[in-house]
Amino acid sequence: MRLDKFLSHTGFGSRKEVKPLLKKSVIVVNGNVVKDGKFNINEASDVIMVNGEIVKYQKYFYYLLNKPKGVISATEDRNHKTVLDLLDAEDFRADLFPVGRLDKDTTGLLLITNDGELSHNLLSPKKHVSKTYRATISGIVTEDDVLTFKKGVVISGDELCKPASLKIININEEKSESTIEVTISEGKYHQVKRMFAAVGKRVVALHRLSMGEMILPRDLDEGHYIELTEKEFVF
Ligand code: URA
Repeated sequence: MRLDKFLSHTGFGSRKEVKPLLKKSVIVVNGNVVKDGKFNINEASDVIMVNGEIVKYQKYFYYLLNKPKGVISATEDRNHKTVLDLLDAEDFRADLFPVGRLDKDTTGLLLITNDGELSHNLLSPKKHVSKTYRATISGIVTEDDVLTFKKGVVISGDELCKPASLKIININEEKSESTIEVTISEGKYHQVKRMFAAVGKRVVALHRLSMGEMILPRDLDEGHYIELTEKEFVF
């Protein structure tokens, strides 16, 4: 890999921005000052120092966010705050993106990464990655609904959903409200909301608890995130 690309990938700015740094003679590769950005390095075995500090190479970044309400699952938006706006300045990189989408009013687990392959694997319909949501439903969810979800709900547009596991957590007869957990293995547009609409009910709050092997830590507040390492993904 070119030295300027390495520096850029490790957070020293664009290739143009690292040029002045190279000129200052503060970049040392295996003990020798290198001023040429085109210089080829082996990022796995060479020791690269900037201003006397060893720089570790990291290609991919993974941030597990507890998405709050009112924030858009996009990289940019003219009118709304995006999930990327929630990252601290030192964690922000232009190549980060959210893996899939949660609706503006949905909260919970959302992975932000620059790893395109992982994102593809998590979202590919062929991989059937499961996603579990906790939801508050207006109306009383019944055992019939559980069975309908198990068989596969037909949602608007005559789309048949794959079997989903629906668990009733609590029924509040007085408020005519139900708390449920639902696990789906697809990612259709507004899927959970449309599944409940198909059985005549409305989702009033939706929160994603898990996606594949990733579980939202209970103590992670909305709007906060943690960094995961590559080793933490097993697919
Ligand atoms: N299903 C929905 O309806 N909305 C989401 O944000 C996620 C799943």
